[in-house]
Amino acid sequence: MTVQQQMKTLSHFMNGVETVGISGRFSEVFNPSTGEVLAQVPLATKDEVKQAIKFAKAAFPAWKKTSIGKRVEVLHRFRQLLLERQDELTDVICEESGKTKEDAKGEIIRGIESIDMAISAPQMLKGEYSVNVGGNINAFSAKAPLGVVATIAPFNFPVMVPLAITSMAVAVGNAVILKPSERVPNSALFLCDLWKEAGLPAGIWTVINGDKEAVNELLENKNIQAISFVGSTPVAEYIYQTGTKHNKRVAAFGGGKNFMIVMPDANLEQTANAFLGAAYGAASQRCMAISGAVVVGQDTEKRFTEVLKEKILKLKVGPYTDKDVDFGPVITQQSKETIIRYINGALEEGANLVTDGRNPSICETSTGFYIGPTLINHVTPDMTIFKEEVFGPARFIVGVESLQDAIDLINDHELGNGVTIFTNSGAAARKFQEDIEVGMVGVNVPIPIPVGYHNFGGWKRSKFGEGHMFGPDQARFFTKAKTISERWPDESEDTTSSFAFPSNQDSTIK
Ligand code: NAD
Repeated sequence: MTVQQQMKTLSHFMNGVETVGISGRFSEVFNPSTGEVLAQVPLATKDEVKQAIKFAKAAFPAWKKTSIGKRVEVLHRFRQLLLERQDELTDVICEESGKTKEDAKGEIIRGIESIDMAISAPQMLKGEYSVNVGGNINAFSAKAPLGVVATIAPFNFPVMVPLAITSMAVAVGNAVILKPSERVPNSALFLCDLWKEAGLPAGIWTVINGDKEAVNELLENKNIQAISFVGSTPVAEYIYQTGTKHNKRVAAFGGGKNFMIVMPDANLEQTANAFLGAAYGAASQRCMAISGAVVVGQDTEKRFTEVLKEKILKLKVGPYTDKDVDFGPVITQQSKETIIRYINGALEEGANLVTDGRNPSICETSTGFYIGPTLINHVTPDMTIFKEEVFGPARFIVGVESLQDAIDLINDHELGNGVTIFTNSGAAARKFQEDIEVGMVGVNVPIPIPVGYHNFGGWKRSKFGEGHMFGPDQARFFTKAKTISERWPDESEDTTSSFAFPSNQDSTIK
């Protein structure tokens, strides 16, 4: 698919071909930078999902039996194609998500990192072997793919999240069904062509577009073995509960409320620069975006607010076609209205506006879904803007008296995806690392997202289930272990029946 194909009806991708949706239900795909409708995406019926699962199930046995070396060759080719066509894909991402080009390119590179990790699948799949565990028996463990697995993705990483979840699943021998966000289906459909060209057999990579109806079929269908979900916390919890009720392995990654602790000894200039990118980049639509600064000490709070304000007033919001913009629009008009409600709510609850992005100047000339960088101070933990994830550029400052207060405040929050501290004190950093109850932790790092060969995942209500995204844990999530005990007795060996429970003292072979 290319960006030229605008205002059209999209398809699904099943059994290696584009497949027209027959539900008669559609969702509009917007260009958030202009507010225009780009396309309509079909919302699959349960029967269409069942058909997709049937194709995937039929394709699985041959893919499972394909040598790991050959499977990895397909990933190598796919990686190469992605590199060759990354400019085209960048445009597709920007057009339907509103991200800047630089940001979209970064997401593709992160996606490629997860392909690199998947290319190491032969290493990940190595089992364990023990010789002569008893009575001339050797024992070994092997990892087998699960079968048909499903991935349900959010809008904010149209390429990175699908690649992060599916690359390893494919490499270790599963057939994957991806249900992308109905807001950004073009990016996922773009990947279909590349997989096909790379030589992936039909049925191993499926894109089914849809909403709750399609997701429910994936959650309930007995032929789906595992679900990997990425999205908001309420939906993640629903996916986990429903999927596990139907006996599936589920890893459901939810939302985040990610704090940056600013210590009195931090370099405020550097810290403010780090805050800007981590808090407002991608219009704050990242699960690891910094939501707020927790500043230790009144004087530091005052100075940090001043430095930030000055820098925020220089930020530029606009369309991805303008290479000078720092960030673009939010994903929909509805999302824009929700974020403005959060800002208004905070003011009603007693907070104070440092910078007001509710009506940025770009809105005078564009009907895109823009909000400017908003900073709110005098925020307290009982305010809604502190408690709930706000997926847009409304960020805040909370003042505390000590590092311990900052840690307690963050540990009490129900979400625990990412967190970071800015300090020059090794002792403060060490205490923070040890005591903080959050899954991904940074020290003087603005966004502590792990590299592709480390496990990714939050704590508390930011993740449900035990699997991780990226990292070696993914190979474990998408495989099951089989332990084999074998003996090859010689014809001449004298064997007897044993009615005792097998042990390594087994005497059935003399
Ligand atoms: P979302 O929860 O609205 O949607 C995610 C997916 O679930 C989409 O494919 C959507 O179609 C589907 N869905 C939505 N409502 C559903 C329902 N009631 N039943 C079944 N399926 C449903 O999330 P979003 O708005 O697309 O993405 C933003 C959210 O994702 C934010 O909360 C962000 O923090 C989170 N996120 C988390 C991570 C992570 O790694 N933890 C990464 C990226 C995004």
